Amino acid sequence: MSVTSESRRSWQCCIACGDRLGELDPRPRCDCGGLLDVIHAAPPSTGSELRQLLDARRTDFQAPASSGVWRFRDLVLPSAGLEVLSHPEGNTPLLERESISHWAKVARLVLKHEGHNPTGSFKDRGMTVGITQARRIDPRAVACASTGNTAASLAAYAAQAAIPCLVLVPQGQIAGGKLAQALAYGATTLLVRDGFDRCLALIDQAAAELGVYLLNSINPFRIEGQKTIVFELLQQLAWSPPDWLVVPAGNLGNTAAFGKALEEAIAWGLIERRPRIASVQAEGAAPFAQSFRDGFATRHEVVPDTIASAIRIGNPASYDRAVRAIRDTDGVVTTVSDEEILEAKAVIDVAGIGCEPASAASVAGVRRLVRDGVIGFDQRVVAVLTGHILKDPELLLAYHQTSEPVPPKANRPIEIDGDLGQLARVLQRLET
Ligand SMILES: *Cc1c(COP(=O)(O)O)cnc(C)c1O
Ligand SMILES: [Zn+2]
Repeated sequence: MSVTSESRRSWQCCIACGDRLGELDPRPRCDCGGLLDVIHAAPPSTGSELRQLLDARRTDFQAPASSGVWRFRDLVLPSAGLEVLSHPEGNTPLLERESISHWAKVARLVLKHEGHNPTGSFKDRGMTVGITQARRIDPRAVACASTGNTAASLAAYAAQAAIPCLVLVPQGQIAGGKLAQALAYGATTLLVRDGFDRCLALIDQAAAELGVYLLNSINPFRIEGQKTIVFELLQQLAWSPPDWLVVPAGNLGNTAAFGKALEEAIAWGLIERRPRIASVQAEGAAPFAQSFRDGFATRHEVVPDTIASAIRIGNPASYDRAVRAIRDTDGVVTTVSDEEILEAKAVIDVAGIGCEPASAASVAGVRRLVRDGVIGFDQRVVAVLTGHILKDPELLLAYHQTSEPVPPKANRPIEIDGDLGQLARVLQRLET
């Protein structure tokens, strides 16, 4: 099995007009305005031979095979060879807790916890590829607009690569953990007095006119990295695909990446049956769900409002790609309320796992889809937890300490004096 991946060809292709761009073309989108896809020629080996190659790398502790992204480099960015910038990232666990399956009312729910990535979200999988690509292009700076996690991730990877980094976040709308990370990793951080959608439009313009390399999820190389969430979980399941993949949906980069990963996994013989994708939006930020309801006849835009800041997006950038992903996988798009998100999060947290609010939308979505009869009780479901519990401490502290009204699963702290008697009384109450 000789893998001469270094010489394999890849290019960029506009999903609207079909025009081709070179692999190193830094334009964020096609001149017609369409989104770009990275297309790879078929890998040198496919089917069981490819599975064997990928499985053999799991015991290779040397970089880049030790990364859960670059282990799959033949399917991600073959022309980079071993010249990649990696933390490493990926290798996130599959978790199962009966209490969570029970809450979602499904026999077996497996959680893929992407909060275990280096900066605490799946964004690192896309960013290692995006920064690897940026180094090949050598721009004056890299930049992104972000609801927080993209900024944290880009800041860390740009620091490692020593490339100047600009992040734009909506002022007052980003969780404390994420802002703290962007500042600490040394990114030039702009607090824009406007919403996320305006941040994105602004950075888009900067990419076109100021020569900065855009690393938002419209960047097709980030999508290539995020595909490895799917490759890795299929590998962890011994290449036996589940019935459903459930994912929170904001800008729709992940939904798009999942669709592309599944398409390629079938084309290159990694799996024979395609799982269905379920994208879950917050009720107050559900333009994609609205479009799904009318068969994607119209693209909607809303003023987003939800406690889940990572999916607080009114005009999703990867819309066109995500429509394709849902259509190709016979997928569905559903919504959950903020109350359902918070309840799911409390169930995930108290199981000892924990996740950020947007991540809990996937588990809340599973429950909704089971209740609606879309997901069957006995079907195999993998739900993705997208971010770490510590990303949003303000929301957690408010949830557990607020008194009017006390939330259903709040765990209120108890204040005592430095006194053993008072401690003993608390302990006694625990036992009754
Ligand atoms: C970015 C992000 C999302 C949304 O993913 P999209 O690809 O924008 O749909 C969900 N959860 C978390 C924690 C995120 O960081
Ligand atoms: Zn085009």
